[in-house]
Amino acid sequence: MEKINKNITIVGGGLAGCEAAHQISKFGLRVKLYEMRPEVKTPTHKTSLFGELVCSNSLKSDSLENASGILKKEMEYLDSIVIKCAYESRVPAGKALAVDRNIFSKKLTQIIEDNSNIEIIREEIKKLPKDKADPIIIASGPLTSDALSKGISNLTSSEHLYFYDSISPIIDSESIDYSKTFRASRYEENAEGDYINCPLNKEQYYELVDDLTHGEKIETHEFEKQIYFESCMPVEAICERGKDTLMFGPMKPVGLVDPKTGKRPFAVLQLRTENKEETMYNMVGFQTKLRYPEQRRVFRKIPGLENAEFLRYGSIHRNTYINSPELITKDLSLKSNENIYFAGQITGVEGYVESAAMGIIAGINASRKVLGHNSIQIPSETAIGSLIDYITTENKKSFQPININFGLFPPINKKMNKKDKRELIGNRALKSLAEYKPYTN
Ligand SMILES: Cc1cc2nc3c(=O)[nH]c(=O)nc-3n(C[C@H](O)[C@H](O)[C@H](O)COP(=O)(O)OP(=O)(O)OC[C@H]3O[C@@H](n4cnc5c(N)ncnc54)[C@H](O)[C@@H]3O)c2cc1C
Repeated sequence: MEKINKNITIVGGGLAGCEAAHQISKFGLRVKLYEMRPEVKTPTHKTSLFGELVCSNSLKSDSLENASGILKKEMEYLDSIVIKCAYESRVPAGKALAVDRNIFSKKLTQIIEDNSNIEIIREEIKKLPKDKADPIIIASGPLTSDALSKGISNLTSSEHLYFYDSISPIIDSESIDYSKTFRASRYEENAEGDYINCPLNKEQYYELVDDLTHGEKIETHEFEKQIYFESCMPVEAICERGKDTLMFGPMKPVGLVDPKTGKRPFAVLQLRTENKEETMYNMVGFQTKLRYPEQRRVFRKIPGLENAEFLRYGSIHRNTYINSPELITKDLSLKSNENIYFAGQITGVEGYVESAAMGIIAGINASRKVLGHNSIQIPSETAIGSLIDYITTENKKSFQPININFGLFPPINKKMNKKDKRELIGNRALKSLAEYKPYTN
């Protein structure tokens, strides 16, 4: 067999970087893995271990009734080392795959260090090569160093790199009670209307403001405080400016008439679709720091949302990510430079497992490029495929990071109960991955 004299460079020894390195090594190719810790620190990492979990020790559910469980199963199928190490370091946590974080990262580090195809270089990458002949995978994560962020921004142009995410909750369209809402766009009385409007009366509005003001919130890290000055206000911070301020902001009712009453509601929450299948709706302007159970309690009081299922909760935190729909293709390489790949949270997926999954795909595709094969296109019916579809589909009003959820999968247009439908989605995903063979050569 002809020896391929090419290195693939990976920037970042996090969850995505480790997965990519492992996959590349399986093709018999050599990897240079750059990790800046411990010389250069991030605001949250505490060790120099690879794949350190910076916050929760849970990788979410591994039940196939859950979208995250389906994703994990697919990753196992693709020989994920993150999922392997997670099972080997599992601690009891009900249906969640929670781990002893120290054992988990030590195991992952051991696998990388023991791999003779991987050269580890403890150094910060500050610049990106313009005309590199060998592929490079950028997996530097949500806390990418400042120098590299600048390099990425030069490469992609600054408006395509974001430094925080400001996320409104996303709701499963099937869980909305449409008998209480109306469809309309502001000032377009006779048109079909792009928005679903949840009308609130005076009492409901002031109760919501009270809940938002006093609800339990997630603390903001010191390094995240500047975010609020960058035109990104949580709804509860808007309420602190006055009880009526929300009504002049995201909840303003002007230009909207409820056809059931023929009147303008006191206040309105608008829901806008997230995808062309209209399976997911986001609460417009409702970025929030309320804790997740509080979001469920408070937002379910809004008319039409009494049984809302939250596919993603709202949040605001420091996050470096690129405008993937504009910048990258489905193989995760840059449209403007096919030798530069992105993987992990920086692509606009959200979460440990989702980030690791993108590492697997970038690793396989960069290797296949070097070996002269076509890139793989994981089917849309799978969790991995639906995540990639989401982050690479253009025409989003604003691109916000996403975790895996059932709203991302292509819908099943049959009347059936939710549990059966989800089971069908899970089975379809695993079957289509099993039938998809190109990644094996
Ligand atoms: C504060 C915070 C808390 C989070 N909490 C959770 C949570 O509880 N649950 C969850 O599912 N997700 C959470 N996430 C989101 C995300 O899933 C994790 O950050 C995840 O680790 C992302 O994986 P990654 O491989 O993309 O990046 P990382 O795991 O962060 O790995 C990137 C690596 O690149 C290195 N690096 C950065 N810049 C350079 C450079 N210039 N040169 C060389 N190396 C570099 C970093 O040191 C790091 O080791 C959180 C994110 C943040 C910021």
